[in-house]
Amino acid sequence: MTSQQGTTSAVQNARTRRIAIFGAGISGLASAWRLRERAPEIELEIWEKNERVGGVIGTRIVDGFQCELSVDNFITTVPEGVELCKALGLQDELMSTNNRFRRTFVVRNRRLYPLPDGFMTMAPTKLYPMLTTPLLSPFGKLRCGLELLLPRRRSEEEESLAAFAKRRLGKEAFDRIIEPLVGGIYGGDASKLSLQATLPRFAEMERKDRSLIWAMAKSQRSARRVKREEESGARYSFFITLRSGMNVLPERLADAVGRERIQTSRAVDKVERDGDQWLVRDAQGRGERFDAILFATDTDAASDALRASAPEVANLYGQTDRTGVAIVHLAYRNSQIGRPVQGMGFVVPTSEGNGVIAGSFSSYKYPTRAPEGTTLLRIFVGGSRAPEMVELAESELVSRVEAETRALLDISGGPLIVDVARFPHAMPQYYVGRLAWRRELQEALERYRTLALAGSSLDGVGLPACVKSGYDAADRLIAALRTE
Ligand SMILES: Cc1cc2nc3c(=O)[nH]c(=O)nc-3n(C[C@H](O)[C@H](O)[C@H](O)COP(=O)(O)OP(=O)(O)OC[C@H]3O[C@@H](n4cnc5c(N)ncnc54)[C@H](O)[C@@H]3O)c2cc1C
Repeated sequence: MTSQQGTTSAVQNARTRRIAIFGAGISGLASAWRLRERAPEIELEIWEKNERVGGVIGTRIVDGFQCELSVDNFITTVPEGVELCKALGLQDELMSTNNRFRRTFVVRNRRLYPLPDGFMTMAPTKLYPMLTTPLLSPFGKLRCGLELLLPRRRSEEEESLAAFAKRRLGKEAFDRIIEPLVGGIYGGDASKLSLQATLPRFAEMERKDRSLIWAMAKSQRSARRVKREEESGARYSFFITLRSGMNVLPERLADAVGRERIQTSRAVDKVERDGDQWLVRDAQGRGERFDAILFATDTDAASDALRASAPEVANLYGQTDRTGVAIVHLAYRNSQIGRPVQGMGFVVPTSEGNGVIAGSFSSYKYPTRAPEGTTLLRIFVGGSRAPEMVELAESELVSRVEAETRALLDISGGPLIVDVARFPHAMPQYYVGRLAWRRELQEALERYRTLALAGSSLDGVGLPACVKSGYDAADRLIAALRTE
């Protein structure tokens, strides 16, 4: 290296590096937070297409009822969500679910029946509730019990959730219990969703312990032992929320990152390579140069923008399947509900439903969400089961949802409030073939060290997984810029 080259590179290294983040949903804001925490020397700009931050997250207060538009609560077992809230000083906002109403119900023949106590997504953990549940026939119960004796699968190939559940626990348990539970969580089609990408711990249980029932019982025993050993037990329930509304999280994050760094109503349109830098154009055609870029938008927006400059990444990322859901909030006086149930919510099997996937008794879970003497219901509609529902005219959508809930809960009279939020194409679906796709995407990304992706299409759809994906994307760019 000549001395002149050495001087130039020293000057370049001294130059302030610039990163652009596209999308100010939870993933983009979490990556911005990480960049501010770990690399404050890097200059940061965030472009957000909408007028507000938060992406799908939002809270609307309607006549005293707190309606959570998308994220209702989030799991505490992936720690990034709860830890971020604490780091932002939101500990006093964290609220566990009301322990009095822990049950989930399943619709069968247009009535609500409790999910057998101890049934965890894919497998039972307790014998007696399974033997006595009216949800399964005697044959269905026997077939479920046979799971204890079945050999493990030999193939390592990806398998659909439906194929796995039917193989292990039988078609009846799948149709009547597992399919509605999975639909309620992912809004997806269990015959296409990949077990290994969506619920990998069940594949792992079969691989290690052969029987799911056996493995679940074992893990329950050790969980009880750990709980006994911890003097005070777990501090938070499995799900938690923020008392004043989930929108507090992105708003607080935006404050912490610095509002002056966030440009709302600015959408990324095209990205080109310009030497070591990226030349980024917004939808108005204005261009800016950055040393690294991070896409935390939906996959279509990222794929369109990257088409010319990172075609392999654009092609793969654009292949993500997504489905849409709508959330309808309805509130009633308690006296209007003829058949109240003591539970968190209910799920609806495909064979029973007319587009409603699941419902949650929002004000039972979190009593602060509705005025005294009233009940707030939150109903999920659409998904891959009935995507057309998301596009229905509001009056048609509401009347179908009202009819379904009226019949289930024996409701008389009209609702006190109605609130509708629609999310077309907002839920990525991890279909079979996903693991190979993820590896290929990672390999394609390796060719572009200063490009990173974050969001629910990568390694988990839940809020804490999105926070983690934001952190991972930020770390990747910090490492790339520091080793340049
Ligand atoms: C109805 C619903 C209910 C859910 N419920 C829960 C729940 O209870 N618990 C849970 O843990 N998770 C839940 N999830 C999942 C979770 O909410 C999402 O996975 C997560 O919020 C996604 O965050 P994100 O930042 O990746 O994407 P988004 O929130 O979609 O943010 C992407 C951002 O990119 C912006 N953007 C798009 N194009 C451009 C562009 N060209 N230029 C700049 N910006 C652009 C968008 O405007 C948006 O703000 C739910 C999701 C939905 C849809």
